[in-house]
Amino acid sequence: MTSKDAAHRAKDSNAGDDAGHPHAHGVSARIRARLEAAQERFHANDNIAHYIEPGEMEQLQAEVQARLEDVLRALVIDVDNDHNTQETARRVAKMYLKEIFAGRYAKAPPVTEFPNIGQLNELMIVGPLRVRSACSHHLCPIIGKLWVGVMPNQHSNLIGLSKYARLAEWIMCRPQIQEEAVAQVADLLQEKMNPDGLAIVMEAEHFCMHWRGVRDTDAKMTNSVMRGSFLKDDSLRREFLTLLNHNRG
Ligand SMILES: [Zn+2]
Repeated sequence: MTSKDAAHRAKDSNAGDDAGHPHAHGVSARIRARLEAAQERFHANDNIAHYIEPGEMEQLQAEVQARLEDVLRALVIDVDNDHNTQETARRVAKMYLKEIFAGRYAKAPPVTEFPNIGQLNELMIVGPLRVRSACSHHLCPIIGKLWVGVMPNQHSNLIGLSKYARLAEWIMCRPQIQEEAVAQVADLLQEKMNPDGLAIVMEAEHFCMHWRGVRDTDAKMTNSVMRGSFLKDDSLRREFLTLLNHNRG
């Protein structure tokens, strides 16, 4: 079955829906019903991997493709004859589910935590990590950098350097709001490492500012989250911000 057939099939299976939601019988409706039954939140930046069964991602991609094709038709684009847009719905559906929103559908990347045997208790800074996300409001790109400050104690776990990037990417590959994204990264690292203090700083360009609206091309947004000792200890926070500013260049 080609992806186009799959898309048509997904579309046909939605035809004639009349039970509440306009597409009550698609695979997305099945997944949504499970989430609602479990009283689980499924906002744009929530991960729902636990509620998706094997084989359903392919069906979901076909459904999203069919609906995107409808959007293109609603934009009065001749997808049947315009060679440039014939495959657009398929490409965008794949990009959403497998790349830029994959952090909603994929389980958390495996991370091995190891005990702080060396009893490190010095401030550690990781970054800049490259951030690629999309804003929840317009689905426009958010491109930026992220820094992590960790203050370990003898009971903390440590994780490998590359794992910071993997975990951050899992959070960022969802439609996001920058303030919520940094808080989600902080929650995840707190849970994995349980450090004395944790600081996250994110600096990013929001392409909805460049592309539309005020077209303010220089606008960057910076957000930070401070937890534990970074909140309580002014000198630690200052040390972190000073090192960060050096690192930023
Ligand atoms: Zn936006």
